[in-house]
Amino acid sequence: QTPVPSDIEIAMAQTPKHLATLCKEIGLTGSEYELYGAHKAKINLDVLKRLNYRKDGKYVVVTGITPTPLGEGKSTTTIGLAQALGAHLGKATYACVRQPSQGPTFGIKGGAAGGGYSQVVPMDEFNLHLTGDIHAVTAANNLLAAAIDARMFHENTQSDKGLFNRLCPAKKNVRKFAPVMIKRLQKLGIDKTDPNDLTEEEIKRFARLDIDPSTITWQRVMDTNDRFLRKITVGQNPTEKGQERETGFDIAVASEVMAVLALTTGLQDMRQRLGNMVVASSKSGDPVTADDIGIGGALTVLMKDAIKPTLMQTIEGTPVLVHAGPFANIASGNSSILADKIALKLAGTDEGDDSMEPGYCLTEAGFGADMGMEKFFDMKCRASGLIPDCVVLVATVRALKMHGGAPAVVAGKPLPDAYTEENLDFLEKGCSNLARHIENAKKFGVSVVVAVNRFSSDTDAEMDLIRKASLAAGADDAIGCDHWARGGLGAVDLGKAVIDACAKDKEFKFLYDVDQPIENKIEAICKEIYRADGIELSDLAKEKIAVYTRQGFGNLPICMAKTQYSFSHDPELKGAPTGFVVPIRDIRASVGAGFLYPLVGAMQTMPGLPTRPCFYDVDLDEDGKVTGLF
Ligand code: ADP
Repeated sequence: QTPVPSDIEIAMAQTPKHLATLCKEIGLTGSEYELYGAHKAKINLDVLKRLNYRKDGKYVVVTGITPTPLGEGKSTTTIGLAQALGAHLGKATYACVRQPSQGPTFGIKGGAAGGGYSQVVPMDEFNLHLTGDIHAVTAANNLLAAAIDARMFHENTQSDKGLFNRLCPAKKNVRKFAPVMIKRLQKLGIDKTDPNDLTEEEIKRFARLDIDPSTITWQRVMDTNDRFLRKITVGQNPTEKGQERETGFDIAVASEVMAVLALTTGLQDMRQRLGNMVVASSKSGDPVTADDIGIGGALTVLMKDAIKPTLMQTIEGTPVLVHAGPFANIASGNSSILADKIALKLAGTDEGDDSMEPGYCLTEAGFGADMGMEKFFDMKCRASGLIPDCVVLVATVRALKMHGGAPAVVAGKPLPDAYTEENLDFLEKGCSNLARHIENAKKFGVSVVVAVNRFSSDTDAEMDLIRKASLAAGADDAIGCDHWARGGLGAVDLGKAVIDACAKDKEFKFLYDVDQPIENKIEAICKEIYRADGIELSDLAKEKIAVYTRQGFGNLPICMAKTQYSFSHDPELKGAPTGFVVPIRDIRASVGAGFLYPLVGAMQTMPGLPTRPCFYDVDLDEDGKVTGLF
């Protein structure tokens, strides 16, 4: 067998078809897509209206076991399986994946286009900038950050009347409230539409948001792993009159604006969510929202193109929808609801037309199933109302050996012998991790197919062992596949198993009821999914629970920010650890996006660069082609 060339060599050797051709193939009308060059197009949300009558296709979530730092091939398997179902088994199939962040692309992990002969192409365009959605998220986030500081500055330097007059200036001698201000007046219970009618007391309540600076949760963001921006002081120029404060940067994909993009169901819904984002509390303890600051409309305008999913293709020419990119450890970890909805309709069937077979929407949930899959079910499916049919759980021999006690896998270092030679002992022990993920997935009442992503050093005995362990743990099927080396052909058996699993009856259910107290919901995830003995709330976390409950946000679902390297909060605890208590350091609220996120242990919302980042390999060759991306 000839060795498989590097990801970028394979991707660059392929001439993708023009996107207009793909759009026609999948039945989009001319007004339903906008080309961004020859290889990307944005899909207009109108397609959802046109296909509303259709019955959805089958909904499959691709997730994985607890990974090594190298990744276990979830993206590669999502793409390989899409190629198998779409190009080899004749099913209308759409892969839905997240847009990669430049953090990992230039940091430790590399790009996210899949790998080998199962990739999204062109992979350089996919990994860098794409159609600008992350830039739009960054722009919206930072406009709001600037607005918060500017508003506090103006409130601190002006009288009530002066502030009010500037907020409602006379235009052509008429003073009017901007439409977004009417919302604030209603919230304050002031039933007036003419600024001239407000009493002095009403002017003060309306004009002063009175933000308590110590409660501001809104950070600035950028899409770079820049650890030195984790904590900064702003306002140091004399023009800001000493109004300095400490704040920081998060990575853009961890921002609430990105979470809104991932969870929104349409333009008006996005407008509501962006306006409802809570950025701080007032000195009297009330939540201050983006709409209180008057900015919800402007944020929506900045995001109006980003809300349209981007269409690309696999190396075998089947469609891929790329949309939103929240990390799975510190954010919601799933691509957008809108991309999935569009894919499910395009893959859907017409009622009464028996000649049509359902197609497939394969959507990827980030990191291990304890993170991405749990959030997929309890947050994404709850927000969308979509019912999943099947979980594909990606496992590798190498990760299972690591869970069974083999020496640590370190990015950039050669794998120890235990990984490149057959070792059934480590593998058998490590299957405890796989078994727990299978049991967890089963708790949601859907079918589970294990996809063993095969590496060239894996042996048949190792494959057999994983299959037996999977079936014993309750998986519906377990299939070895080598789509990385062979493209879609290498995942045909996996495709057949997924078709069978989707045809089975299911009884989907959520893990917890959102109307329970916040603490109980966190405990349910920690005990049922991570298998902890319990949780330990810091004083800060307890305080936040009291605040959010009082402010009326207690009934939101939970988005855990936890390491992806262990079921527990400690990345060193491999396999299927028990006997631990999960420390909840802090809890934050993404009210607009619609969730609360507890921070577990030392999780950071801005990653750092390693000593030897991926960017060392990235360059242009003499023909201007990108080299060194993977
Ligand atoms: P994940 O989505 O789980 O993080 P990826 O699909 O991005 O993982 O794969 C991580 C890396 O591993 C990629 O560089 C990919 O090319 C490589 N890879 C995936 N599967 C295989 C395989 N079967 N053999 C060799 N390399 C692989």
